[in-house]
Amino acid sequence: MMIRIDSHTHWGRCWSERDGADPSNWLALAGKYGVSHSLVLPEHGLFNAGAIAAEHDLLERVCSRSQGAMVPCCTACIWEPVEALSEVRRCLSGGRFRGIKFHPWLQGCSVSVPAMDDMADLAAEFGVPLIFHDGTPPFSLPSQMALLAQRHPRTNVILGHAGLFEHYQEAAAAVRAADNVWACLCGPHLEGLRHLLDRCPLERLLWGTDSGFGLVDGLYYRVPLMDLLRLNDAQAEAIYQTNPIRVFGLHGVLA
Ligand SMILES: [Zn+2]
Repeated sequence: MMIRIDSHTHWGRCWSERDGADPSNWLALAGKYGVSHSLVLPEHGLFNAGAIAAEHDLLERVCSRSQGAMVPCCTACIWEPVEALSEVRRCLSGGRFRGIKFHPWLQGCSVSVPAMDDMADLAAEFGVPLIFHDGTPPFSLPSQMALLAQRHPRTNVILGHAGLFEHYQEAAAAVRAADNVWACLCGPHLEGLRHLLDRCPLERLLWGTDSGFGLVDGLYYRVPLMDLLRLNDAQAEAIYQTNPIRVFGLHGVLA
């Protein structure tokens, strides 16, 4: 069976409240749609900086019970740069976390502050990407992330939503503006997805669903939407399998 990696999911608080640290229900939902592996981003810590460290520990526990199907990513509050770098280093040093997620709009931080440059260097040191919520002004625009990527050519920068509904053209331009900008097809409508597929190098496209942010079934919409693109085999293999394995460094990590 072909591996199908969902590069943008969350383990939201509602899942813990219902299932504790047991990923069975979460995995059953992914499996229903043929998703074999998922990158799992934080949720609580995006709203509450004080919850970040505990959420990382929880994410690690949940993912460790998934037989390799769930790979965690961490976050940080860069308003406190020293603590942020130390917490992210703690996560990445353990070897299980494979990306650093920021939601500059929710977290209220610009990607242009010096602390983000330090974070980009840390990501490069560990060979993991920075993943951004994008598509929402004023802090989460693809062009802002492209400028960060241009300053840090060793760091891969993922546009987690490929511009959402209104900024997908800017997202495509951002991907073309630097070789280390990637776009996760998770947000634009069908015409937006076609626009990105036509204009971006195939080797830097990913796919994601945002599944797990709440209990709503996010795959119900996004899986059939991708089917409408009628990807050929090479496109499907790149977007669902080889590209995420490369950008998240999953060789040897996936079960
Ligand atoms: Zn998300």
